Amino acid sequence: MLNILFADRIENWPAYEPALTAAFAAAGIEAKLLLPPADPAKIDYIVYSPRGPVQDFTAYTRTKAVLNLWAGVERVVGNETLTQPLCRMVDEGLERGMVEWVTGHVLRAHLDIDFFLAHQDGVWRQAGHVPPLARDRSVVVLGLGALGGACASTLASLGFAVTGWSRSPKTLAGVTCLSGPEGLRAALGRAQILVTVLPNTPETTDLLNRETLALMPQGAVILNPGRGTLIDDEALLAALESGQIAHATLDVFRIEPLPPEHPYWAHPKVTVTPHIAAETRPASAARVIAENIRRFEAGEAPLHLVDRARGY
Ligand code: NDP
Repeated sequence: MLNILFADRIENWPAYEPALTAAFAAAGIEAKLLLPPADPAKIDYIVYSPRGPVQDFTAYTRTKAVLNLWAGVERVVGNETLTQPLCRMVDEGLERGMVEWVTGHVLRAHLDIDFFLAHQDGVWRQAGHVPPLARDRSVVVLGLGALGGACASTLASLGFAVTGWSRSPKTLAGVTCLSGPEGLRAALGRAQILVTVLPNTPETTDLLNRETLALMPQGAVILNPGRGTLIDDEALLAALESGQIAHATLDVFRIEPLPPEHPYWAHPKVTVTPHIAAETRPASAARVIAENIRRFEAGEAPLHLVDRARGY
């Protein structure tokens, strides 16, 4: 019998308890789910989120792995008390949510939906307002991992001219894949709509800054469902002011909740969504957790192991 600690916010327990119980049963795992404060020395696995009660892993001497419920790991990856393997969440529900959020906001920009919402005033404005076809719209996705890759593929399947950028070279059907610093410059240079789905690491911090924003086509649109740290906020506000960037839809921020006095809230060229682009779904996430525990117990390679040195 394995002892599995649920170390997420207690509000999530009613949704996760039945989902994890069902997933363990389906995977043939005999497990007892425990809530803090359980004896740390008796815990085999921790189902974890940074918003949960465990911040210090020192006493978890028997724990074989920490299984993060979030895709992003920036709040735990540098935790020096964590010596066990750390796995992040790659969940079908999270992926579909991100694809739907990104597709919706790309189509909103592509079809200029905001213009028509703002001009329902009896004037028949046809000339100059027929949207181009998707194939004539260049969309760039920064980050081609579990989430960014799915977004890029979906946008390509809708006909958009999609370019993706990642750290290592990739091949993705229907997507022009670039990598490295030169690849970034080339990608930004063609980004009429830019989607940032990168993790928060020292290397990605302020990736969009005065210099890189200036590489984008005049009047480009930015969607950031990645992390707030990817964007230098002052630089973005200046680029919105100058018209270099026409609009930004931001789901993630350096400080969350975004403080009420933050200029993004009232900015006419910014849409704020409150970190809702994608959420881990208990039923599908529980299956990922169960499969990983099965793998650890069987001595097989775990899924979605975080590279602590790389930071994601
Ligand atoms: P993955 O780890 O699967 O993918 C990350 C991608 O970013 C990879 O393609 C990786 O390149 C690329 N990358 C990382 N560092 C660099 C770099 N320095 N230069 C270029 N490319 C880089 O992560 P996911 O797709 O699962 O998630 C991405 C992020 O989305 C999460 O880290 C999180 O911040 C955010 N997120 C936001 C949510 C929301 O609701 N707003 C919900 C869930 C996640 P390579 O392939 O070469 O490794």
